[in-house]
Amino acid sequence: MNWDKTKPYLFILVIFLLPLVVISLFKMRHELPANDNGIRTAAHDTAAEKTVYGLVIHGGAGNFTPKDIPAELIPEYEATMSEALHMGMKGIERGDSALQVVVLVIKYLEDSPLFNAGKGSVFTHEGTHELDASVMDGKTKMAGAVAGVSHIKNPIEAAQCVLAHTNHVLLVGEGAENFARNQQLQMVEPGYFSTEKQRKKLDDALKKEKKEKMGTVGCVVLDKNGNLAAGTSTGGMTNKMKGRVGDTPIIGAGTYADNQTCAISATGHGEFFIRYSVAYDIAAQMQYLNLSIDEASEKVIQKLKTFGGDGGVIGMDKNGKVIMKFNTLGMFRGYYLKGQEPAISFFND
Ligand code: ASP
Repeated sequence: MNWDKTKPYLFILVIFLLPLVVISLFKMRHELPANDNGIRTAAHDTAAEKTVYGLVIHGGAGNFTPKDIPAELIPEYEATMSEALHMGMKGIERGDSALQVVVLVIKYLEDSPLFNAGKGSVFTHEGTHELDASVMDGKTKMAGAVAGVSHIKNPIEAAQCVLAHTNHVLLVGEGAENFARNQQLQMVEPGYFSTEKQRKKLDDALKKEKKEKMGTVGCVVLDKNGNLAAGTSTGGMTNKMKGRVGDTPIIGAGTYADNQTCAISATGHGEFFIRYSVAYDIAAQMQYLNLSIDEASEKVIQKLKTFGGDGGVIGMDKNGKVIMKFNTLGMFRGYYLKGQEPAISFFND
């Protein structure tokens, strides 16, 4: 090959072809779909799945210390919470949405008599049960909740059905139960929710005329697609008035999720969580004050304490940062992030 003759042709080729290649690469990048985090990825590319995902759970906050929990129950709490975390992670791994995983995990915790949600719910002053639950999808900002129900075995499923199959956010009492029946959810007699442990708590509370809480369950999830969801379920507070509704089914108080900021599930003295819009306040401080989830939740939970509001929150931000904050002596809590060991703790350690 004669190099001197070829040189001008090569020069022309480089001058005209190089910009073409650069332009088409640039176009390709901008035609790729953006996911919820604004990250552009090829649709077929499995790397589009987030590398950080996982879940956080709580089983209620309260002023309890190791001596308040019967030693033989500790392994039971640990086993149940560990199973819930593994079940949730399996769901995420197989591609379930954050919302599906929240419902799956809370349903499992509702079926355990250890917690004040579903089976094991507290008694009202009249010795009845009135259960509340809610879920919120951070991707769509759709939410569903039920309050004051006594015949739905898993109120969290009813909350999910309200989200998916109605134009409403919150259904209460008989209306919520009729709806659940029509949705073919499992119905039970109210006696199903009763446990000896909670009956004794009511007897004690009646003697002292006080209202007590503890044992509400909650779950927040960041799934493989970077979507957040939150859910909470409770029997409320021991010795509560018939008809009383706490923060758990109130979106923005006990539960909140928004892909732009975080997913939060709360537990504690519900009236305070409603009045201070706790779950939404954390998200709002992240959005408007640019605080981290850690700073926002610390600020909100400590402020709540100064007003006399006992309790805590679990949460996750869109990058998988986990928080578990409480202003009480203990909170049943745990989390499981992709690539890490699950962690469970109860006390202030
Ligand atoms: N927040 C619930 C309520 O006030 C109780 C709890 O979390 O323990 O109904």
